[in-house]
Amino acid sequence: MRWSQAHIPTLRDDPSEAEAASHRLLIRAGYMRQLMAGHYSLLPAAMRIREKIMRIIREEMNAIGGQEFLLPTMHPAEVWQASGRLDYMGDEMFRLVDRKGSEVVLGMTHEEIFTTVATELVSYKRLPQTWYQFQTKFRDEPRPKSGLLRVREFTMKDSYSFDLDESGLDASFDRHHDAYARIFERMGLEAIPVDASVGAMGGTGSIEFMVRSDAGEDWIATCSCGYAANLERATSTLPAIEDPAEVPGTEPFPTPGVRTIADLVELTGLPADRQVKTLVYIADDAPVLVLLRGDHDLMEQKLIDGIGTGQVRPAHEEEIVELLGAHPGSLGAVGVAGQRIIADPALQGRRDLMTGANEDDVHLRNVDVDRDIAVSEWMDLRSVAAGEPCIECGAPISLDKTIELGHIFKLGRMYTESLGVTVLDEDGKARVPIMGSYGIGVERALATAAEVYHDEHGLAWPMALAPWEVVITVIRPDDALAGGESERIYAELTEAGIDVILDDRAERPGVKFADAELVGIPVRLTVGPRGLADGIVELAERATGEKRDVAVADVVREVVDLVHSQR
Ligand SMILES: [Zn+2]
Repeated sequence: MRWSQAHIPTLRDDPSEAEAASHRLLIRAGYMRQLMAGHYSLLPAAMRIREKIMRIIREEMNAIGGQEFLLPTMHPAEVWQASGRLDYMGDEMFRLVDRKGSEVVLGMTHEEIFTTVATELVSYKRLPQTWYQFQTKFRDEPRPKSGLLRVREFTMKDSYSFDLDESGLDASFDRHHDAYARIFERMGLEAIPVDASVGAMGGTGSIEFMVRSDAGEDWIATCSCGYAANLERATSTLPAIEDPAEVPGTEPFPTPGVRTIADLVELTGLPADRQVKTLVYIADDAPVLVLLRGDHDLMEQKLIDGIGTGQVRPAHEEEIVELLGAHPGSLGAVGVAGQRIIADPALQGRRDLMTGANEDDVHLRNVDVDRDIAVSEWMDLRSVAAGEPCIECGAPISLDKTIELGHIFKLGRMYTESLGVTVLDEDGKARVPIMGSYGIGVERALATAAEVYHDEHGLAWPMALAPWEVVITVIRPDDALAGGESERIYAELTEAGIDVILDDRAERPGVKFADAELVGIPVRLTVGPRGLADGIVELAERATGEKRDVAVADVVREVVDLVHSQR
């Protein structure tokens, strides 16, 4: 490729709307343009990276026996109705009506559609199967942002496994786990596998692959011992709190103006870990009282996962007053009967606590949780905090912001059952196959690499992803010697299978150097009349900034070796 003919519209300045580094640099370096919020046009340089990402994924998927498909993006609503997810997906799903009045949706994921194909797997002899595709997904994000990191339209590699039984699923899941580790390693991305919530997919287990980045929106908890979990799932050990062996009966006391735990701490002088925080949620249209220790915060996803429905929301104030007879600030569960009360285990066995009395501006003291509150379920609900002891080893855990690169799920039989997939087993008995599902966002991987690999001068791609591995920057392309030698090196590197771009533009050297750095090409060869007069060209490495002179006669071999060593 000759830069003079390439469409790489680099910008002198950062785009004003972009905050995340990948967003800013991918626009500025001429990789993409925004069409509307959450939808980007990928330009040719980005397509080259995307192609390399897809090649790596494809090779590793094929290596574990994956077979490539391409299923439609537009689906009949009935299929999603049959699985039960048409309503569940809510506003995140794009829905439309065709000219005949049929309801169709745009695919957010393809469990249902792959399952329709799986109905032809009639015998156990056809199992296991591992099927995948690269396909566009649509998700109506409420707040698309950070460029390619959170969009409404993107390419996903999604794969699905079908096995006869749980042990088969475990093996398929493990194969994907290993393939994903290799995929991210080949991309140069340090992806941490973490225990994750199954969320909208349903199922029995899931692992996310997370890359540490300030541009990320997911928090993970990790420990030096290897413990790693998404904050939505993370737990920690809590130091025991000494309580009196016995407390007198509960006693109301006035708390005028107290609205928060902090207010109550100030009024009573007792610490927040001696209080019960009472929240009211509505799950599937029924109220649920949610209790936590006063100094703990609710991790809503844990509640959603624990209850097992996506239809969970905080109750409105009027609903709370109708249910408990008081406003938020004075709520409690003491003496509340006939309601679902879910409490965090940090409250189990605790005595001498305070809680709202369900009367405005009144609280109760002397609460003995086991004695006074009719807890219907104990459920880990709290959000862990940095520094709390690791559940595995006791060392302090750390919390990090991350980008989710991949997610693998043990789905179970929810889709095969609801969409009627059965196979005959060895004894001729009908069995419902068990599924796994596995995803990697392709453009998100590209943006994540940009987050990880950049500096103040621009992007600095790892060799495996770089749109071009080498740029030949010609100083004075009009000079016969410089022009001729650069053409020769360009032809020989191309012949050797190197991705090379020849910067033959009639621009000042400074502009060309700046563009090569901004675009992030790993190796730059500077070919000019002055160096050639001494028989040398300059070789610069983008990642380290190192420069050295190489004899003209050796340059092709040296560059080929360098590129191969880093691919
Ligand atoms: Zn640990």
